[in-house]
Amino acid sequence: MYINGTWTAATADASFDVFNPADGSVIGQVYDGGQQSARAAIDAAAAAFRTWSKITAYERSAILYRAYQLMIERKEDLAQTMTMEQGKPLRAARMEVQYGADFLLWFAEEAKRVYGETIPSARADQRFIVAHQPIGVVAAITPWNYPVSMITRKVGPALAAGCTVVLKPAEATPLCAIKVFECLIDAGVPEGVINLVTGQNPAPIGEEFVNNPKVRKLTFTGSTAVGKMLAGQAAGNMKRVSCELGGHAPFLVFEDADPVHAAKGAQLIKFLNTGQACISPNRMFVHISIADQFIDVLQQRVSKLRAGSGLEDGVAIGPLVNEAAVNKVAAQVDDAIARGATLHSGGKRLIEGGLDKGFFYAPTVLSGITEDMLIYREETFGPVAAVMTFDDDAKALEMANDTTYGLAAYVYTRDIGRAMRMFEGLDFGIIGINDINPTSAAAPFGGMKDSGLGREGAREGIMEYLETKMGGFSI
Ligand code: ADP
Repeated sequence: MYINGTWTAATADASFDVFNPADGSVIGQVYDGGQQSARAAIDAAAAAFRTWSKITAYERSAILYRAYQLMIERKEDLAQTMTMEQGKPLRAARMEVQYGADFLLWFAEEAKRVYGETIPSARADQRFIVAHQPIGVVAAITPWNYPVSMITRKVGPALAAGCTVVLKPAEATPLCAIKVFECLIDAGVPEGVINLVTGQNPAPIGEEFVNNPKVRKLTFTGSTAVGKMLAGQAAGNMKRVSCELGGHAPFLVFEDADPVHAAKGAQLIKFLNTGQACISPNRMFVHISIADQFIDVLQQRVSKLRAGSGLEDGVAIGPLVNEAAVNKVAAQVDDAIARGATLHSGGKRLIEGGLDKGFFYAPTVLSGITEDMLIYREETFGPVAAVMTFDDDAKALEMANDTTYGLAAYVYTRDIGRAMRMFEGLDFGIIGINDINPTSAAAPFGGMKDSGLGREGAREGIMEYLETKMGGFSI
């Protein structure tokens, strides 16, 4: 833990183990903090806010820029830690460190662009001036699937805005959080400005975050169930809230699209991080005229994906996060098959060659998905491509929108009119048009409906950490 500028190491009576999900081995021990630790961290952040919020944006920017440089210098070490702790292949881990660092660079720049405005008044003797000020102490809760970038996406804009932060990372990935903090601390973030509370049991820490009056903002990334609960409690105390929650992305391939190109894109985005991404496609709607070709190419590519430890060369499929995740994926696949889906590849837990020590599920392709199947509604968060066909654009759009989630959607078409109709008609916050990577520190990330509140990254990202203050001056 890191509170008020001091590291606290794991002790015999307060610690928990961190595991490698590829083989179940223990790779570290961290301090097991709780409500008391959270309170101490909030006190430190509240005290530090007085000075951090008053130094110039240029000074904050310079520190964030140094943190960005340090993260790039330490990319390999961070990536290795991530692969061991979270499981994704090393190449993907390096890309995530880069993506994570990008937020520090972006918000180092945005720190200097917190503009206000003047508004004309109907009264000749009156002037309106609008300014933005940092909101105060920010409590942040982050998930395990992107254990570096989900931290910088919150801490970057919070620090840029002049806020101070208490972070609780996911209990599965505290080691990545520690390494991110080391970059920030070595870059010169003063004591008390960032605080890290690790803990095995998130509930008491979360309780302190939503109830402590010194916390002015809660930012959460994780499951919709926990997000709704915390947002509700925080709202009861009038705290500002942003939430990035679950997703159920539709992936639409129209008759004019190239089925080979679309299938390649589908494979790349679906199996990224073993499907453990909130923007992962959950249902693939493919026009009936090209569905066979799409499934063939997808199946061929998927059958070549090698599962194993992300530290080994050539591994594309890392482990799932834990046993419960494997069971959830297996339940969805079994349910789909029992209800008539066709299995093209995968469909089972992987245990050969030592994989039984980890949480591996075979990359899977299913077709013939119908509305009564669990996979049609539930977020999968695993390596399963679920394909269904359509022959009518309007019906496809209706089915794509038939979900309580609204984070990401993907469209493959070469018809500009169709692309625009889908862009406008899909009820999702992020739409990839012939593009499987519609994410960047420069682009607003976030969802509609049950996928959350607010946006991260981009110009919008820093506004989440700012209050608006209006001055009416009589002259
Ligand atoms: P996932 O299914 O991705 O693990 P969670 O929502 O359970 O999603 O976890 C995301 C983050 O929320 C993690 O940091 C986790 O520790 C935290 N979390 C889970 N339950 C609570 C809770 N009751 N209060 C505060 N944080 C929580």
